[in-house]
Amino acid sequence: MSSILTDKYNRNITYLRLSVTDRCNLRCRYCMPQSSFSWMPAENILSFEEVTRLCASFCRLGIKKIRLTGGEPLVRRGITRLVEKINELEGLEEICMTTNGTLLSTYARELKDAGLTHINISLDTLDPRTYASITGSDVFSRVWDSIMMALELGFPKIKINSVVIKGVTDSDILDLARLALKYPVDVRFIEFMPVGDSIPWSPDSLIPNSQIKNILEADLGELTQLPHAKGAGPAALYSVSGAHGRIGFISPLSHHFCGTCNRLRVTADGKLRLCLFSDREIDLKTPLRNGLDGQEMDTLLRNAVNSKPEGYMSLGKLNPSCHKKMSSIGG
Ligand code: SAM
Ligand code: SF4
Repeated sequence: MSSILTDKYNRNITYLRLSVTDRCNLRCRYCMPQSSFSWMPAENILSFEEVTRLCASFCRLGIKKIRLTGGEPLVRRGITRLVEKINELEGLEEICMTTNGTLLSTYARELKDAGLTHINISLDTLDPRTYASITGSDVFSRVWDSIMMALELGFPKIKINSVVIKGVTDSDILDLARLALKYPVDVRFIEFMPVGDSIPWSPDSLIPNSQIKNILEADLGELTQLPHAKGAGPAALYSVSGAHGRIGFISPLSHHFCGTCNRLRVTADGKLRLCLFSDREIDLKTPLRNGLDGQEMDTLLRNAVNSKPEGYMSLGKLNPSCHKKMSSIGG
């Protein structure tokens, strides 16, 4: 039986981003600056059994795609088992992961065997020194090996996500875009967002994606916009003549996409976030631990989704921002 989860603005909610840990082995300066982190207490993190029960409810309600994220999802021990469990849920069409790629070459094969189909790897530069200065770790080659391994294993969809920060990674955009010429990967440029109180964001650090597109076109030739598939997410995708992959732009600041938002987020400690830029959270951990049954959880989730905000502007914000760190929300 198929279900449709719709909010009061008539948006079909089909996509769940689920953070499995707030911990990470990197300290990207735009996400988790060295000075400002403390971990969630371990006992607050949802167990795999709790995550699976929750995902089962979401799938009964009509969620078709679940993305595991973090922190770094691959630092959570036994993560492959969770992928396997989620992959068994009825109604689910895609199980995806967003990772920094540092540990992926170790786990790629077992993740693929467990049913993972879509993999997003975050990489903002191809220069090992810039990589180390952004992330605090000199491990660029491990990420590169992971990308090659994912290609070799033939994951159906591989995306490279690159945050562009003026004066830090803007000189890398052409090299990154050329990966889509050479390999069957989508390279997506993401506008740097003011998420979390302690990151070094300022309006001056933002380069709007329209500017990046102009820079790329000057070198690669015309980028041809592809039709936006329903439920395909916030990236505007472009083809380039002769390329094996595509180039995408995710522009939450210059072109917000609240009107077509189809997503929900759950933090590692079981808080449902209805909008990335709203700090309102609905506690799911307590009802899960108090023995709420499946049907009661379905009702709780359905009612919660009905209060999904229309968009960040309806929250009284001129620009999208929130106080919580990106690493604890999951991107
Ligand atoms: N650790 C994994 C990774 O890096 O891919 C998953 C979690 S990370 C929080 C998810 C995504 O959020 C990454 O692609 C990262 O680049 C992006 N991100 C983090 N902070 C950001 C910010 N301030 N603005 C835009 N994107 C950000
Ligand atoms: Fe870790 Fe990902 Fe945040 Fe970087 S962006 S600090 S890899 S969670």
